[in-house]
Amino acid sequence: MRLIVAVDGPGGAGKSTVSRLLARRLGAAHLDTGAFYRAATLAVLEAGADPEDEASVLEAIDGRTIDQVDGRTLLDGRDVSKEIRSEEVTGAVSTVSAHSELRRRLVEAQRQWVRRAGDRAVVEGRDIGTVVFPDADLKVFLDADPAVRAARRSGEIGSAVSEVKAALDRRDRLDSTRPTSPLRPAPDAVVIDTTHLGIDEVVDHITGLLTQA
Ligand code: C5P
Repeated sequence: MRLIVAVDGPGGAGKSTVSRLLARRLGAAHLDTGAFYRAATLAVLEAGADPEDEASVLEAIDGRTIDQVDGRTLLDGRDVSKEIRSEEVTGAVSTVSAHSELRRRLVEAQRQWVRRAGDRAVVEGRDIGTVVFPDADLKVFLDADPAVRAARRSGEIGSAVSEVKAALDRRDRLDSTRPTSPLRPAPDAVVIDTTHLGIDEVVDHITGLLTQA
């Protein structure tokens, strides 16, 4: 039976861990759409293209395939799961993902991915409830205090909290102010503040919302 859960929110709010656990609990697939934008950014950087220039960005990704298999991200079949987390990719991804034609192509690839997964998936990103699956069965928007989000991300990647916070603030600003598909909760999303919640509490809460739905 079709079950699509949209999990949106800024970096460090807990989207990835929560989505992975939730998908496992529901017996559904898990799609990390941020990894698609990161893989596209890697392709742009590898081609030496200018991330600001949409025509160069489109040329760099033309004919390239991005996929996710067993939680690994593949660019033309090459496992790029590690490379897409580099500082270079993280620094350029919000610029690349602001281009509307690039988004149109990646949104199509994401919808096809979910179709292939039998329309049973937890899909995480920034625009899932607003653009990719406006008809999702449940939409949640995870948020948390910016300092807490930076501390969590710093713990994951081992960089200084102040540096991580500056990079996250910049990405939040770019992602929230772009004209195409800005980061914002869908009007019918359930907003969950994860600042003082553990992962299991968040997953339990979402599972509870699904049984009520
Ligand atoms: O989720 P993650 O932090 O890996 O996403 C990296 C970047 O990809 C975001 O900062 C945003 O610029 C872009 N993104 C997006 N739309 C999505 C998912 C990610 O624009 N659905």
